Amino acid sequence: MSGVTGRFAPTPSGRLHLGNVLCAMLAYLSARSQGGRFLLRIEDVDIPRCPRALAAQCIEDLAFLGFTWDEPPLFQSERGAIYQQHFDRLREMGRVYPCFCTRAQLHAAQAPNLGDHEPVYPGTCAHLNPEEIAQRAKTRHPAMRLRVPDAQVGFTDIHYGPFSENLARDSGDYIIRRSDGLWGYPLAVVVDDALSGVTEVVRGRDILPSTPRQIELFRALGYAPPAFAHIPLLTDHEGRRLAKRDGDLSALARRHTPEQILGTLAFACGRLPEPEPMGLEALIGRFCWARVRTQDVRLPAGFP
Ligand code: GLU
Repeated sequence: MSGVTGRFAPTPSGRLHLGNVLCAMLAYLSARSQGGRFLLRIEDVDIPRCPRALAAQCIEDLAFLGFTWDEPPLFQSERGAIYQQHFDRLREMGRVYPCFCTRAQLHAAQAPNLGDHEPVYPGTCAHLNPEEIAQRAKTRHPAMRLRVPDAQVGFTDIHYGPFSENLARDSGDYIIRRSDGLWGYPLAVVVDDALSGVTEVVRGRDILPSTPRQIELFRALGYAPPAFAHIPLLTDHEGRRLAKRDGDLSALARRHTPEQILGTLAFACGRLPEPEPMGLEALIGRFCWARVRTQDVRLPAGFP
């Protein structure tokens, strides 16, 4: 075994989707082609939206497709005490503050034309004094935000190359515990990757802009950040976002074998010259990122 540990970390708020399968496949091929370990983590931190039955279905779908993992899957819904310890450390560092803003207030403060980016928090609650906090806490349970430094943080993505941003200007202070008490994904993902010894994160390009702030959080907590490879979006043959029902594994698994599904995805992302059926183990050989597309991945016409 090499020192590489990869992982796939789906959010089971619905049935596994072809886009998730592409991500799992590339994460798996990258780790295994380097002789590395592969882990599965169920990101059900948003407990009400991620019922256990969907998590179990997700694990079953991955096993059906031929994925194997080297440790029992982790469930974020069971790791509250670990997130609490890290939250307390950040609070001791003076990095955490309560935020009483409502969704409507945040929405009103949002600058137009932000495109796909999450709005940058304008800092409304960043400097409340203890009296103001006590006053507001009487009527509203706060979310907890992490204060980000005014610093440029960059990294070199394995697939997309250098990316950097100024955290205060481009990312802003972000929620690590929601007002309903649920842990925020940005804290959970960093803590889990660090404690699981993950060295390589493969995930959708939509999360690339959040990566500098995650890297900063790894470092603040005293952990070495992993390497990151973000992957292109998956679309239908005309470049449209896949409708949920089309990419859903319940329908797919009735019509196609795992080898047909994986071989088609491997062809679509540039890994195979033809859409021939192929299983995961056969796809490991000669995997290299340079042969994976960086543009959106279009499925061939007629698939799914
Ligand atoms: N749970 C996230 C998702 O399903 C992925 C987060 C990650 O891979 O870091 O989109």
